[in-house]
Amino acid sequence: MANNFDVAVIGAGPGGYVAAIRAAQLGLNTVCIDEFKSADGKPSLGGTCLNVGCIPSKALLESSENYERALHKFGDHGIEIKDVSLDVATMLGRKDKIVQQFTGGISLLFKKNKITSIHGHGRLTGAGDVFQIEVTKDNGSQTIGAKHVIIATGSLPRQIEGVAVDNVRICDNTGALSLNEVPGKLGVIGAGVIGLEMGSVWRRLGSEVTVLEALPDFLAAADDAISREALRIFTKSVGLDIKLGCKIQNVKAGKKSLSVEFEHEGELRKMEFDRLVVAVGRVPNTENLGLDAVGVKVDERGFVEVDERNRTGVPNIYAIGDVVRGPMLAHKSSEEGVAVAETIAGQHGHVNLDTIPWVIYTSPEIAWVGKTEQQLKAEGRAYRSGQFPFIVSGRARALGETAGFLKMLADADSDRILGVHILGPFASELIAEAVVAMEFGATAEDIARIVHAHPSLSEAMHEAALGVDDRFLSL
Ligand code: FAD
Ligand code: AMP
Repeated sequence: MANNFDVAVIGAGPGGYVAAIRAAQLGLNTVCIDEFKSADGKPSLGGTCLNVGCIPSKALLESSENYERALHKFGDHGIEIKDVSLDVATMLGRKDKIVQQFTGGISLLFKKNKITSIHGHGRLTGAGDVFQIEVTKDNGSQTIGAKHVIIATGSLPRQIEGVAVDNVRICDNTGALSLNEVPGKLGVIGAGVIGLEMGSVWRRLGSEVTVLEALPDFLAAADDAISREALRIFTKSVGLDIKLGCKIQNVKAGKKSLSVEFEHEGELRKMEFDRLVVAVGRVPNTENLGLDAVGVKVDERGFVEVDERNRTGVPNIYAIGDVVRGPMLAHKSSEEGVAVAETIAGQHGHVNLDTIPWVIYTSPEIAWVGKTEQQLKAEGRAYRSGQFPFIVSGRARALGETAGFLKMLADADSDRILGVHILGPFASELIAEAVVAMEFGATAEDIARIVHAHPSLSEAMHEAALGVDDRFLSL
């Protein structure tokens, strides 16, 4: 194997593998180094997203939603199913198969694009015209040289001091995606994206779920109106017991159960759980990466410092994805990967961080892009808004998913769309129209004048745009 490359990518998550493919497409001799191993001990490309993140979580969300529909919703349609039962092993098997199809697909894409794929831990050991990377493998080590390096090492679950994750009883995202039975009582620490998605899965499958969140506000990054309504729905209809403003004091693993002591509303409280999921965010992964050896700096929170084009302070070393500033989302990582590969090839790669869509795959789903109403208020910016409830949508009624609303915020003078916030069915799909509109600098009036199919959920976008000018047609 030749040991000198134009580009070395460290990490094969959605940032790294996409960067490697784009670099290879542009004619650069590319190597991608990745150390991830799946539960069976085999190398598995695709990083957090494909192995223990986006893909398996969405598979379980879909399965658990189907179970819940069969149990509680089909009756409304006049469909009676007797003796609905749950086979957790089959559900997990389906999820694992989907993961394997995708991770195996990355290996094929690497072959197709003539990317050298090395399994092992990469560490920068030397700088100069050519950077040296030592790769520690299962059977020894190898040093490779590369003119350009892309750090795409992603993130790891944040730990809580004194709480030992074993991924059997006390789990992070990896264990939470593989519980082999439905726990009677499940505790989730952290009401962020991962905590809410994992809590929803096991709640639908039958667990009593309590979510303990440190902050007094629920989903502080989302638009206030959305988080308020989402909290109401998740507690009243979905059945998640969400306790805000909790200070975890200690977690003790007894023989039978796990006891969590926490301060809440001025009182010291104790709850017992069968399993615990710790989902208190993720931290950038720069473990044993040799950043000091080449002079790459990290900020006070541990993220690799980069400029707006993902350049570190060291020429020809770039960093992308969860290991740098910005939202920890797979699509943001991938777009940065494309942009950096194009920059290395002499093109002008760029990612607009202002139009990254956020999605939370709860039921109803939450999605947004752009500014929240509270951000616009804080900036003192004049805006108008249109808000359309899904209960008025014919398609939402046919689906039986009428909770939530779509809200559009537009500049009061120019009418340019500044933000779109959705709580409702298929919010993850609907948000794409708003992203395209904002990228093209569209106004609310533009959306109001575009024909939307009837009956479709997208009519909510049309109506909200009409609502910005106070001329709803269905309200
Ligand atoms: P990662 O995917 O973390 O990949 C980094 C890779 O680098 C890993 O394979 C790691 O083993 C490897 N590596 C690290 N250091 C080294 C080294 N020194 N040498 C060799 N290899 C190394 N995002 C979404 O957009 N949508 C979702 O629905 C979504 N759902 C999620 C659900 C869960 C449960 C979790 C945990 C995350 C979810 N995310 C989601 C976030 C998403 O997974 C991350 O934003 C994304 O994976 C980041 O991509 P990345 O390429 O930067 O890093
Ligand atoms: P996310 O970053 O979306 O995965 O969300 C992580 C959530 O965990 C955020 O809402 C945090 O406020 C919350 N969180 C962080 N630390 C703690 C903690 N020690 N106890 C409870 N919640 C926490």
